[in-house]
Amino acid sequence: SALSAADRRLLDRRRAVLGDIYPLFYDKPVHVVRGSGARLWDAEGNEYLDAYNNVPAVGHANPRVAEAVRRQLTQVNTHTRYLNESVVAYAERFLATHPAGLDRVVFTNSGSEANDLAVSIAQWRTGAQGVVVTRNAYHGTTRLLSGLSPENGPRMPLHPWVRVVDAPDTFRHGPRAGTVFAESVRAAAEDLRRHGLGFAALLVDTILSTDGIFPGEPGLLAEAFRATREEGGLVVADEVQPGLGRLGGTMWGFQRHSDGIDMATCGKPLAGGLPIGTLVLPEELSDGYAQEHRYFNTFGGNPASIAAATAVLDEIEDRNLLDNARRTGAQLLGRLTEIAAASPITADVRGAGLFIGVEMAATDGADGGRWARRMVGALRDRRVLISAVGHAGQVLKIRPPLVFDADDADEFTDVYAEVLAEVQNQGDTP
Ligand code: PMP
Repeated sequence: SALSAADRRLLDRRRAVLGDIYPLFYDKPVHVVRGSGARLWDAEGNEYLDAYNNVPAVGHANPRVAEAVRRQLTQVNTHTRYLNESVVAYAERFLATHPAGLDRVVFTNSGSEANDLAVSIAQWRTGAQGVVVTRNAYHGTTRLLSGLSPENGPRMPLHPWVRVVDAPDTFRHGPRAGTVFAESVRAAAEDLRRHGLGFAALLVDTILSTDGIFPGEPGLLAEAFRATREEGGLVVADEVQPGLGRLGGTMWGFQRHSDGIDMATCGKPLAGGLPIGTLVLPEELSDGYAQEHRYFNTFGGNPASIAAATAVLDEIEDRNLLDNARRTGAQLLGRLTEIAAASPITADVRGAGLFIGVEMAATDGADGGRWARRMVGALRDRRVLISAVGHAGQVLKIRPPLVFDADDADEFTDVYAEVLAEVQNQGDTP
């Protein structure tokens, strides 16, 4: 079915003022007007199952988050240069979710700002420039991070001091993926030294989200973390997508692998959609950097975002959402694996907690990108939201809000099985 006349007009108005710099999802964009839990509704009242968004970790329009923000906004909302109880209390709670030794936090407005500061601190600490990232990584939107985000494509060149290595692709490299990855990091560090740039950091998303979602066995990244430190670099864990309990069992993605990191960044899921970013680091790095640098961020850690973030932590604890991510994630993974067994166009199903990747099979010697695009579009037509990632967009990305429950998972996999059957029965014609 086509877009409604009203949505067509809105789309035209949008283009007239926003232009094409930030594209929408889907050929037929979704016009959301309301949400609750893992559900969204469009302007015509149609209901959607959200199996994609991590910003509403504790559910869309979470009432506890909304009330906390409302209360804070009716008291005061200012910047971080005045004493404020709630930002300190939240920082204490937030740091307590990290391993000992990661005991300072800087608040920013976005994951990009947090990564930007992390890279600056790593370069300052090591006196080196070089940073290693994975081949299809995305780390943010600032100019610094665009040059560290190969996912943006060849028209946005990387900095000359960046080296790109293959992600630990467990589908293609099998059980040696972690070792291959660590060896690539060592080789990249060596190359950076040879070019006089030195090795400052490995910046890595701990589930390799944009590279194609590679949870691997716990410990997969441990060797690369160790190699990085042995080569004199700092490990920066980008937790923007895997973080805050999504992978089930642990709060942070790096903890599935090893605590041997130097800094961790997060953003997206922390504050129910209000802007926030975090950089967590050791006291020693924070103190050292502070002696030579000032960091002021007007809105970073503002009381309204902090009120929201506090309510998000309350919800995660009170509703046992880590446990839910583990249980519901296992249910989804199990069912998707069964469905895949009978599907000639599915190559691999992998996941940890509520972060699942389904690699579509190459049927013509190319890649599964075409199948993945058709799956994403066909699911959208059935009002189920997911996306696709990977070098060719060949991996379905299933990353629902943490409140996604057993019934949501059943509904999702029922629709998914029907859509998969339809898509593969249509054959390989685009
Ligand atoms: N790192 C990763 C892994 C991300 O996915 C994103 C956002 N997609 C960012 C960093 C940047 O976060 P933000 O958009 O909040 O700046």
